[in-house]
Amino acid sequence: MESPIIPKVIREKTKYCFECGICTASCPMVELLSTHYNPRSLLQKALNEPEKTLDDDKLWLCAWCYKCYKRCPQGLKPPEIFQLLKNRAMKLGLFNGFKRATSIMKEKVPFPLICWYACFHPERAEIGDKKITEVLKKLAKQPKLAKGIEEDSNHKDKVAIIGSGPAGLTAASILAEIGYPVTIFEALPEAGGMLRKSMPKYRLPRKVLESEIQRLRDLGVKLRTGTKVSKDISFDEIKQDGYKAIFVAVGAHKSRKLGIEGEELERVVDALDFLWKVNTQQQVNLGKKVGIIGGGNVAIDAARTALLQGAKEVIILYRRSREEMLANPWEVAEAEKEGVKIKFLVTPVRISEKEGRVQGLKCVRMKLGVLDETGRKKPMPIEGSEFSLKLDTVIVAIGETTETTFLPENLEVDKGGWVQVNPFTMETNIAGVFAGGDMVTGPATVIEAILAGKKAAYSINQYLTRIRKKEENHCGD
Ligand SMILES: Cc1cc2nc3c(=O)[nH]c(=O)nc-3n(C[C@H](O)[C@H](O)[C@H](O)COP(=O)(O)OP(=O)(O)OC[C@H]3O[C@@H](n4cnc5c(N)ncnc54)[C@H](O)[C@@H]3O)c2cc1C
Ligand code: SF4
Ligand code: SF4
Repeated sequence: MESPIIPKVIREKTKYCFECGICTASCPMVELLSTHYNPRSLLQKALNEPEKTLDDDKLWLCAWCYKCYKRCPQGLKPPEIFQLLKNRAMKLGLFNGFKRATSIMKEKVPFPLICWYACFHPERAEIGDKKITEVLKKLAKQPKLAKGIEEDSNHKDKVAIIGSGPAGLTAASILAEIGYPVTIFEALPEAGGMLRKSMPKYRLPRKVLESEIQRLRDLGVKLRTGTKVSKDISFDEIKQDGYKAIFVAVGAHKSRKLGIEGEELERVVDALDFLWKVNTQQQVNLGKKVGIIGGGNVAIDAARTALLQGAKEVIILYRRSREEMLANPWEVAEAEKEGVKIKFLVTPVRISEKEGRVQGLKCVRMKLGVLDETGRKKPMPIEGSEFSLKLDTVIVAIGETTETTFLPENLEVDKGGWVQVNPFTMETNIAGVFAGGDMVTGPATVIEAILAGKKAAYSINQYLTRIRKKEENHCGD
């Protein structure tokens, strides 16, 4: 039946969903909020009961991680369909679903405000921005409070967490609430991981991050910032210090190199360092024309930030086509709207110099061949298609890897260097050592890191409870 309040485009899209459930099976929000959220049934509701869907809190619980979109056999993009519905709801003044969603998040997710800003992108609703901002401001004023911890907790075993990104913070918060003494070891001077280091402030205001981290301090979590495991303390020393379980969540902070001539020149910078410098108010001199190499979200953030830093022209160079870009399409669209240019099917082969500084890039055009191991068409150089581009700065954003050299040698990692874990318990092959977040999945999203931290916390609790019971039984022998 035709619905006057749901645009035709939404009905056209939803009818292609054949309810296979793959989106639901791959959705981190379903694992986090199983009784509250299910994209497959939300899509069905949008098709069958469109009016009711507009007032449904579930509409506001999609975290825009894009995991489902990459897997849907029908090529449907649930986050984009939900966004159209949200825009419609706001246009009609239907606001209760959003309010209820914020309450669900506040109750069920350890860092609800971080999630709202970094994952849910509430600013994307076309109408009603003001109302959304009002609710979020109110939430920020009444932050989630630290739960009371049992004075007489049985949980005396110390837990160490290495890394204070969303995975580490989540595990710390849940374990501290259960009653464990938790210490976080963090290399940087302040906690927050990528949320502080590289995420642009226009996405996550640092006041929000601060208020969420304060809750951890209120819970009694010890934050040993400025302490890099390897340089300032070794992994063995942590173990010898009596920590019975260790959760490693150091993310993916090593930028990949281009491996071309000229990479060592002044004004060739890696994107994470560039964003970090901007976030910590360090001086960055970009010149007028900036080239960004890469096609993921980090490349897009670096490009938008370069414009905000005063660059006159920012060009992204990507070796595949728009279709293969790993960046979220709406982020790409927003960057282009702001003035970022993108050259597709182009790769740099040499960075030219003048007096030790970048002068430009020599590039070659590419064509796409057969599918490669990533499931995308493999880019191949077109002979004789070289061309030059004048640039003042080159920002490299071609991906990140993780660092495991400070961990025991027998820790299992895969071919790409990512740590292997049991996906249900986050246990590594070493007893008492758990891992999660980007260092396991590769660069992913905040919501996936939060989910990993939650799973790790509950299985660390089970592991320590098992050990304690064993020890009690031995004492009783
Ligand atoms: C520029 C940028 C923008 C992003 N934007 C978004 C977004 O909008 N939405 C979204 O969902 N995701 C976004 N992400 C991805 C998201 O930030 C990550 O997926 C998430 O932070 C991973 O969390 P984590 O806890 O695994 O690791 P991280 O957040 O990387 O934290 C790891 C921490 O470990 C510390 N560490 C590393 N080595 C050591 C050591 N040896 N000893 C002690 N500490 C150590 C690091 O300093 C860091 O603080 C973005 C990422 C980047 C780079
Ligand atoms: S994966 Fe695609 S087809 Fe399957 S339920 Fe989800 S939206 Fe529908
Ligand atoms: S975009 Fe992410 S959170 Fe939203 S429905 Fe898909 S998998 Fe779930």
